[in-house]
Amino acid sequence: MPFEIADRLSQLPPYLFAEIDKKKKAAIAAGRDVINLGIGDPDTPTPPVIIEALREAAGDPATHQYALDNGDPVFREAIAAWFKGRYGVSFNPATEIYPTIGSKEAIGHFPLAFINPGDAALIPEPGYPPYRGGTVFAGGVPVAMPLLRENGFFPDLDAVPAEDAAAARIIYVNYPNSPTGVLATAEFFERLIDFARSHDLIIVQDAAYAEMAYAGRAISIFEVEGARDRAIEFHSFSKTFNMTGWRVGYAVGNSELVAGLGRIKTNLDSGIFTAIQRAATVALRHYDELVPPLVEMYRRRRDTFCSGLADAGWDVDPPASTFYVWIPVPEGCTSAAVTLKLLEEASIVTTPGNGFGAPGEGYIRATLTAPEERLSEAVERIRSLKW
Ligand SMILES: *Cc1c(COP(=O)(O)O)cnc(C)c1O
Repeated sequence: MPFEIADRLSQLPPYLFAEIDKKKKAAIAAGRDVINLGIGDPDTPTPPVIIEALREAAGDPATHQYALDNGDPVFREAIAAWFKGRYGVSFNPATEIYPTIGSKEAIGHFPLAFINPGDAALIPEPGYPPYRGGTVFAGGVPVAMPLLRENGFFPDLDAVPAEDAAAARIIYVNYPNSPTGVLATAEFFERLIDFARSHDLIIVQDAAYAEMAYAGRAISIFEVEGARDRAIEFHSFSKTFNMTGWRVGYAVGNSELVAGLGRIKTNLDSGIFTAIQRAATVALRHYDELVPPLVEMYRRRRDTFCSGLADAGWDVDPPASTFYVWIPVPEGCTSAAVTLKLLEEASIVTTPGNGFGAPGEGYIRATLTAPEERLSEAVERIRSLKW
């Protein structure tokens, strides 16, 4: 190897989905009828009204130049108005809202603004890989907080060692939670804010699935008193509007945190294609007609898949939100062994839970991003396996 890779990359586990993709491709190349429940990417297309808005905006030469770093003012205003309607919380579109190139980059870049080398960040595990990656890239030390079924998949804040809480500058949370599917409660956010206040922590709340709840309504952390003093929340158009490939989201929250993120981004990127921001503005305006039918579609898939699995003897809680099903593996099996068996004997792609961090061992993750009849077919195949 002529070039030595930097240490920061060797501190990260291999990007999980790339490995699974390789195995899936091999199975497809071998001619097998693969049911892919492995990747969190909506299988239905972006709604036509959004595509039409992009088409029109792309024809306007005003969109062809560099976008404003902190976003199209019309888009920021639209986010503020929508957020007020949806969550009852007002933000100043000039200082408390910042459009992002999807939320992944922003979640990953945020620690560069607030973590110094050696600072710790508390991250939930199982959890979305950029919490760890972004912390490491900033020279920080990720400290895992396990999300366990016996704690309702909330981190046990009392169990965070005192020295880790003292070394930490950021605490990451993600509700509605991927991969466990649980919704936050106001009580949890209250406890989190108290904890963050007493240890002087910044709260990063990843709300990528906030519009995909089946049981009750997902809340924003900003509905809870005190959040604005120390929190930033990341929202995304990706899952809500079937726009994963478009790369658009936004951060809202404390103005100093938003400004810090903006300073990093100004140095690294030059904003989002203005035509995409215009299309995203149209998406928000059509939220009420576009989003509920998508949520209903996932709800039906969830019910079909989870009741089928339960019928087949699996111990599975239907998720209250997200398109993930977090499934405890059969007694005596590992996550990796179950994932492998499902792929090799049933041609079903799932993700081993330990790929989201060690506390995910003992689970697999299946996504509801396949049509209902394919999910039924998956259940039938699973039913016939012997463990
Ligand atoms: C999909 C996802 C995101 C954001 O995705 P973007 O496409 O980058 O906006 C963030 N967090 C979690 C947990 C996700 O699954």
